[in-house]
Amino acid sequence: MTGDALPVATPAEARAVVVPVLRDRRRALLAVLALHVVATLAGLAGPRLLGALVESVQRGGGRGQVDLLAGLFAVTLLVRALCTRSARLRAAVLAEFVLARVREDFLARLLRLPPSTVERSSTGELVTRATTDVETLSAALRHAVPEVTVAAAVTGLTIGAMLLTSPPLALCVVVGLPLVVWSTRRYLRRAPEGYRREMAGWARVNAVIQETAGGGRSVEALRLAERRARDTDEAIAEVSAAERYTLRLRTTWLPCLEAAYLLVLVSALVLGGLGHRQGWAGLGQIVAVCVYAWLLVGPVDTLVTWLDEVQVAATALARIAGVAGAEPPRGPAPTPRPRGEAGVRIRDVRFGYDGRDDVLHGVSLDVAPGERLAIVGPSGAGKSTLGRLVAGLDRPRSGTVRIGGVPIADLPPELVRGHVALLPQENHVFGGSVAYNVTLPAPSAGRDAVEHALHLVRALDWVRELPDGLDTPIGSGGMPVSPAQAQQLALARVVLADPPVLVLDEATSMLDDRSARTLERSLADVLSGRTVIVIAHRLHTARDADRVVVLDGGRIAELGTHRELVSAGGAYARLWAAWRGDVNAAGTTAPPPPGSSAVA
Ligand code: ATP
Repeated sequence: MTGDALPVATPAEARAVVVPVLRDRRRALLAVLALHVVATLAGLAGPRLLGALVESVQRGGGRGQVDLLAGLFAVTLLVRALCTRSARLRAAVLAEFVLARVREDFLARLLRLPPSTVERSSTGELVTRATTDVETLSAALRHAVPEVTVAAAVTGLTIGAMLLTSPPLALCVVVGLPLVVWSTRRYLRRAPEGYRREMAGWARVNAVIQETAGGGRSVEALRLAERRARDTDEAIAEVSAAERYTLRLRTTWLPCLEAAYLLVLVSALVLGGLGHRQGWAGLGQIVAVCVYAWLLVGPVDTLVTWLDEVQVAATALARIAGVAGAEPPRGPAPTPRPRGEAGVRIRDVRFGYDGRDDVLHGVSLDVAPGERLAIVGPSGAGKSTLGRLVAGLDRPRSGTVRIGGVPIADLPPELVRGHVALLPQENHVFGGSVAYNVTLPAPSAGRDAVEHALHLVRALDWVRELPDGLDTPIGSGGMPVSPAQAQQLALARVVLADPPVLVLDEATSMLDDRSARTLERSLADVLSGRTVIVIAHRLHTARDADRVVVLDGGRIAELGTHRELVSAGGAYARLWAAWRGDVNAAGTTAPPPPGSSAVA
């Protein structure tokens, strides 16, 4: 896990993202590998033919034989060129396919993340994974992976060909190997830190220069010129030290590689000479092994130089695949309970944000199917938190929340929607038409259904007055919509979504008292049969509910009907008296007689 809310995948988890995609494209992958093998074999046949040519000339072979060998040599060159071209083309197409799947998977996983995870991970982190990390992976898949695959295949086959040509001479490779491995490991261990220092140093140089130039007048007024110049010199000295360090690393590494190649070649020549004199190595074999040794330089160079890129790409893949680790565990998909049958059962629930102190301390509560329960209490009592737990947005630290018998926090987000909806105080308006915004949870809803929902939330009149009615673009780039109108659209969305359990968290708070009451009354009819939990600041909402729970300091302080709690003379009775006094003093809506049927 990283410090943020999004985990990083283990190498095995990262492989599990790419391997199934490659398995799907098995034939394309095999074709690319086969073409590379043919191209490499054709390339390797060249030195053998060259060796045979030398031997044929040495033996005084006829012109026909020499011509035949030269012709075959030309054919191998042609086959190699054609196969390499085709393999690279197919590899590029395959890489694009893999990348597309990784991108699609990533997006799908991102959309399945629990909202609480998305809320808690920084936007920068998500955006970096979706853009920079995917770009890094994409560059590697397009360039580094094909280069490394080809280079690895060529290296392996070249060594194989050397062994076939002359096993004793092929042993010369072993002479150069330790130097390549030692120098490359040393470079890879130290280079990342060096390059990081270099980048940080350049960032500091830029910052110092920009500050000095931007604050030129202050620098002059405060006579800071000398000090700023000293700061700039120091920053430049740091960068140049870092640059010298990485340069030193490269100037040790690259000559080591060169020396290793030469070592292989020289030892092949020396050993070959010895073998020729002792009679166990022919001239052709020596020529072929030397050419093979020289041919190794290219692919080994490619392997070591692209290794860095492949490492960075593996990290990017681990970060992309890590998003899967933030997904909730998937249980079997339960069928949503029809409305009227889904009650809420909360048992000994404790919860604190981000591992901090609990804000809910063992809350237990039953809401019967079809019941309307109001939650009231002072600010910070934990009302919204309880609402979020019921809606499955957060998982209790301990205890359970069940809806219609289903533990809601274990459900994948797309199934939660079928059980419960939470309507918060502030609602987002998406860029699109009014109809698009209302039908988000039910895209197949017809225009009549949309108009009916808008009518129920008292929004149809203003929507009809818009230039294109239901088709008027709103939200970003469209007509501006007030917070109260956005709240009405969100309520209309809920009417169409028709979830069996509904949590309304001050869902009508943006409306004035009178509009809120009217809207709540009309909603009450539509929502009849649903289990409704309503977090209420206006106490007429609590009075109209079947039961009221008073939360205080994360605990249930009182629970009962409005009448019972008023008669009990406790915290709720005091809140009610204060509310009634305020409403009457403000001369707004006088509370209607108890028993009228409003929901929120
Ligand atoms: P209000 O009526 O003011 O909305 P509330 O009763 O709904 O309050 P909550 O919003 O549930 O109370 O907050 C309960 C406690 O949890 C408060 O102390 C609050 O500061 C804290 N809290 C709420 N949301 C978060 C969050 N996202 N991260 C950290 N702490 C939070």
